[in-house]
Amino acid sequence: MRGRSRRLVRVSRPPAATAVESRTDHVRPERFRTRWSRPLAVLALAPLLRYAVARHAVPPGAARRSGCDACGAPVGLTHPWPALGPRARCGGCAARVGAPPAAVELTVAAVALVLLLARPPAGELIATAWWLAFAVPLLFVDVAVHRLPDRLTLPAAAGTWLLLGLAALAGAGAAPWLRAAAAALGLALFFAATTLLLGARGFGIGDAKLALGAGALLGWYGWTVPLLGLLIALTLSGLVALALLVTRRAAWSSHLPFGPYLVLGTLGALLLVW
Ligand SMILES: [Zn+2]
Repeated sequence: MRGRSRRLVRVSRPPAATAVESRTDHVRPERFRTRWSRPLAVLALAPLLRYAVARHAVPPGAARRSGCDACGAPVGLTHPWPALGPRARCGGCAARVGAPPAAVELTVAAVALVLLLARPPAGELIATAWWLAFAVPLLFVDVAVHRLPDRLTLPAAAGTWLLLGLAALAGAGAAPWLRAAAAALGLALFFAATTLLLGARGFGIGDAKLALGAGALLGWYGWTVPLLGLLIALTLSGLVALALLVTRRAAWSSHLPFGPYLVLGTLGALLLVW
């Protein structure tokens, strides 16, 4: 009823006013649609990330997974369903495959929503999205088997450096890129040094390689931002470790994965500067 009367009014107005009104009338629902369709479109990446988790979440030295552990049915991008779907069950024997059901999908949707609401500049957004496309599977792999495989950490870092380099060439200039590179190396050396000094009680070489990408993303915005990311990561991991100790789900000697906290700390610090 309201729509019809508005349309009638518009017809009787001069053409200029009609153009303005119809523009404002139509932009809103469209913007709403693209705003919420993007996180949903990103969900199409979930099977690919699930594939990375299933393939790499294997004990050190073991071959990368190419099929169901229980029945051997192949799991891959040529036959992703249903093993790489949100139910994460083998099509042959219904055994669990890879990351927990719905976990990857929820994480991808949450990350996409955060990026959409934060709206960083395009160059930085692309570099961050690239890094997260590896960091999200790494998070699940680290939780499952306490490993951060080179096959995920190194392309994550290389692509991040390259994409930030393109953002530098596109107008940001050399200074933020040089700072990003220096911060990445500094953060990676810090993790590597704790591994050398403390052995198994330190972080890990995998964390150092993950930091090559994380440090670059954070260092792009200033020298204190990597420290902020590290502080958030250490605080979160400390709180979780304390909760696990208090509830006796972990002992002092337990080795807890740090990768997930590094990912959360990086995203948290980026949100504070965006
Ligand atoms: Zn199976």
